[in-house]
Amino acid sequence: MTDPRETAGKGSAMPAGWSAADELMLDRAAKHAIEFRRSLATRPQRPRKSLGDMRQAFAGPLAAQGRDGIDVIEDLVARADPGLAAMAGPRFFGWVIGASHPAGVAADWLTSAWGQNAAGHTPTPAVAACEEIAAGWLLELLDLPRECSVGFVTGATMANLTCLAAARGEMLRRAGWDADADGLFGAPPIQVILGEEAHASVFAALQLLGLGHHRVTRLPVDDQGRMELRAFETAMARTEGPVIAIAQAGHVNSGAFDPIGEIAAIGHRRKAWLHIDGAFGLWARACPETASLVQGLEAADSWATDGHKWLQLPYDCGFAIVRDAEAHRRAMTITASYLPALSAGERIPADYVPELSRRARAFPVWAMIQALGRDGVAQMVARHCRIARRMAEALGAEAGIAVLNRVELNQIVVRFGGDGPSGDDLTRRVIERVQRDGTCFAAGAQWKGRWIMRLSVISWYTTEAEADRAVGAIVGAWRAIRAGEA
Ligand SMILES: *Cc1c(COP(=O)(O)O)cnc(C)c1O
Repeated sequence: MTDPRETAGKGSAMPAGWSAADELMLDRAAKHAIEFRRSLATRPQRPRKSLGDMRQAFAGPLAAQGRDGIDVIEDLVARADPGLAAMAGPRFFGWVIGASHPAGVAADWLTSAWGQNAAGHTPTPAVAACEEIAAGWLLELLDLPRECSVGFVTGATMANLTCLAAARGEMLRRAGWDADADGLFGAPPIQVILGEEAHASVFAALQLLGLGHHRVTRLPVDDQGRMELRAFETAMARTEGPVIAIAQAGHVNSGAFDPIGEIAAIGHRRKAWLHIDGAFGLWARACPETASLVQGLEAADSWATDGHKWLQLPYDCGFAIVRDAEAHRRAMTITASYLPALSAGERIPADYVPELSRRARAFPVWAMIQALGRDGVAQMVARHCRIARRMAEALGAEAGIAVLNRVELNQIVVRFGGDGPSGDDLTRRVIERVQRDGTCFAAGAQWKGRWIMRLSVISWYTTEAEADRAVGAIVGAWRAIRAGEA
């Protein structure tokens, strides 16, 4: 007798519920994906079509009847492609966006295909084990205390939320209040202290946690956006009761770091919890050339960072890292107040994140770290910082262009046409012209009351040559506008 499993799938025979059409559909999707990736360096870095065009492209009545899957996939590609930005492209400098490295993408495809629910530790041991190992590697790469727990979340916003939930619970527990069980009504007030240029997602996290984005103490910052240490010292001296201090590693505009070592020393003297938003800046620790920027950061109590920014993982991927693993676990699980005994070394992935059902994002993390290696990560960070300095130098050498930040990391803040109000208009027009041209992509922002162009060098594919092309396009746009061309 032959084992039916040996013949299944051979010839025309397919296992029940699986068809040649399914295989073709996955195959076609992979081919389209590869074609798109191949086009990244040559396609305009901005989308070719507008939101209005895309609304039209996707519009249609809700179909009563289903249709052939291959057809649907072909249709999806045809409609979406003109409205896609080259966010993973070599000359995409908008916001702070990684490039979805192919190793991460391939592992992400498998993650979807394997369809594992990453909540538990026993139903899918591959996921649970991969998360444990990848978490250890992350702590090594970022050189954070090895006893920290790591939650694999969707991004830095959820990482900030998760860490701050742990902070909230633990600070109130120390004050004799069980916030996880009894909520915040009637609890001792927590004072939250942070720099006024903290990232918007931190304020969103505080809002979600019932700590309010308005009732916090916002401290003044310097010209680079760094929290004023004196102001922090004064604010801390005035505190009573539980305090959470939030510092930033990597300002979203300037890339600057709060003086974290000093903040930690002052904060811990008053027994505050210190949280760090290091969405991209934390990765400075993975590179010997930039590690000095983030000295003392290991003294904090929790850290939020992204996988989908500097580590080049596909969306969505972030890490909530907490020194006090029990505080982390208590905040994220309703069973933890009545802690079911776990055997030594047992770790349930869902205990460290807000969600229960979740994709197994540890697979792409594991694969990405393997593909780059410790040296690969360090060299990438060094390369991006080197390219940022090179771009800043070239832009700053052009009359009428000013670089407003100290380029210590990968971020460049550029202003066109001087400090006055006409500079706002000129800067906006240069950004618009650069985007229309499509050679590179740069976005604008308002910083300290002025319009700026913000360039983030963070794509895996950005090389010196690609950066020089981008600088050429930006300088060209500026010269054309200065010469009075529309
Ligand atoms: C991007 C960013 C965030 C938010 O991260 P998401 O991954 O978009 O949720 C928070 N803080 C800083 C400094 C960032 O750059």
